[in-house]
Amino acid sequence: MKIIVPVKRVVDYNVKVRVKADQSGVELANIKMSMNPFDEISVEEAIKLKEAGVATEIIAVSIGVTQCQETLRTALAMGADRAILVETSAEVQPLAVAKLLKAICEKESPQLVILGKQAIDDDSNQTGQMLAALMNWPQATFASKVSVDAGIAEVMREIDGGMETIEIKLPAIITADLRLNTPRYATLPNIMKAKKKPMDVTTPEALGVDITPRLKTLKVVEPPKRKGGVIVADVAALVDKLKNEAKVI
Ligand code: AMP
Repeated sequence: MKIIVPVKRVVDYNVKVRVKADQSGVELANIKMSMNPFDEISVEEAIKLKEAGVATEIIAVSIGVTQCQETLRTALAMGADRAILVETSAEVQPLAVAKLLKAICEKESPQLVILGKQAIDDDSNQTGQMLAALMNWPQATFASKVSVDAGIAEVMREIDGGMETIEIKLPAIITADLRLNTPRYATLPNIMKAKKKPMDVTTPEALGVDITPRLKTLKVVEPPKRKGGVIVADVAALVDKLKNEAKVI
């Protein structure tokens, strides 16, 4: 059974992002970029399924600029078998990503695609759902536990106020939530081995996919600055403020 794991190169989660002066987006020049944290979780889950003898091959896929090869090498060093880069310097929105992944699924015929539940840069939380719709495959989003047996995946999902367990028939789409697992670190020997693993490079044109953006970003602004707090003298002053200023009691 083949598993495809899409991995996105995003601004590292430790970086404090800054809005560009022209408000067209966030500053990306000289910023540390890493694999989207939810995608590290999906790579880990795919490796666990391979270690359990359920999966036979893991293919990591990234869509974006040439440097996405670094993200793919990280996935290979963690344990993916081969990688595909769909190279483009154009903006690729979730629908276009889903269409490109569909084209790859049609070529590779995976039984499972495990995506992150969302990319931490645009926070869209759309690609997995759109891919499921385009493929007409079942989906289990926000997975916090996955087991696969006899062509069926049992997935525990994080939902409002609790957990839900569903069964979906493969081929299917799963999106990974935070509590699914703790991703492993790539060891030095595996980083070295990953350099020799195969990486194919293709383009949206070669896959016959139109990636023209459908959404227009009007402007990006910083969140409002937090106002400083005050230290109240005593409980009476606190109650007074809650009653008369905040008007919450
Ligand atoms: P989003 O819908 O943008 O929040 O992204 C959800 C998931 O889709 C991510 O966690 C990735 O698994 C996948 N994805 C989104 N964009 C890309 C991309 N450019 N390359 C590879 N995978 C992507």
